[in-house]
Amino acid sequence: MNKEKYLENKLKEFGKKLRIKLPLEVKSDKRLRNYMASITEYRYINNNELFYLMKYNPKQIRKATKATIIHCILHELGHIKLGHVNLPEKELTNEIIMECEYEAEKFALKNIKKYEPQYYKQSLKNIIDIKENINHSKAYQRLLEEING
Ligand SMILES: [Zn+2]
Repeated sequence: MNKEKYLENKLKEFGKKLRIKLPLEVKSDKRLRNYMASITEYRYINNNELFYLMKYNPKQIRKATKATIIHCILHELGHIKLGHVNLPEKELTNEIIMECEYEAEKFALKNIKKYEPQYYKQSLKNIIDIKENINHSKAYQRLLEEING
């Protein structure tokens, strides 16, 4: 199956499983560059209702494995479930960003283990490979140390 379609289907599937209250939309965005995906809250133009938009980097998604796509989706849905999406930009210090990334990643791993256990091992490897920026690296390092005891 086409990777972008897979992403969209899995996003909707996990949106239901995790009881995300607003509609989830997806959009390819070449400007994401170093990021695989990001999630933001928007309003529809026609009726002003809120929805979440997950933007993804098409280059990275096309070469990603299914395990990585699931991991990425659950990380982004973690940001929603944990209330990170609406944090005011001026409050986003490095410390807070790091804390959010740590929590979202922890959420992702917990739910991969629960819903897609066949990808759990691969997900642990992914964490080691992700080096999006320094805040992510620190957050993931902390998580790995906890997992590995
Ligand atoms: Zn994140």
